[in-house]
Amino acid sequence: MWFSRRGPQWWLSGESPRVPGAAFRRAAAGQLCALAAAKSPLRINGQGVTATGLRVLVHKDQVQFGDAVYHYTSDTPPVSGPYSGPAAKCVRCRAAIDGGSPAVQCACGAWFHHGEPSCFLYEKSPACPACHRPTSFDMSAYWHPEEES
Ligand SMILES: [Zn+2]
Ligand SMILES: [Zn+2]
Repeated sequence: MWFSRRGPQWWLSGESPRVPGAAFRRAAAGQLCALAAAKSPLRINGQGVTATGLRVLVHKDQVQFGDAVYHYTSDTPPVSGPYSGPAAKCVRCRAAIDGGSPAVQCACGAWFHHGEPSCFLYEKSPACPACHRPTSFDMSAYWHPEEES
């Protein structure tokens, strides 16, 4: 996901920035990579992309070209639905998650029961025991560029 600035606000979008001479591709292992030609104006955390022309993006990286500034975040909205994966345990209550039962997956891959009550929406501002991301469907609860200077 990408934060881009429009006026005074940051907007979150799944679409990668369009940079002249550069492209963003998802690697097989899931990381997002920036590919840039030698003369691309692309800057990552203030630096040009090196001679190899390839850089794996990490959470909170700042991507810039000209006046346009973006932040990459590895946070993605949690996915809810009937559980259909291999045998798994809920990271909150440690009980097995039955196939077909309501479940939520955190961006880190951890699974939670999502019935009544939901192990995901467990307290007032709960966090994932595996990665400490907020367990919330509201992306404003997650990392945001303005939190860091
Ligand atoms: Zn549970
Ligand atoms: Zn997590």
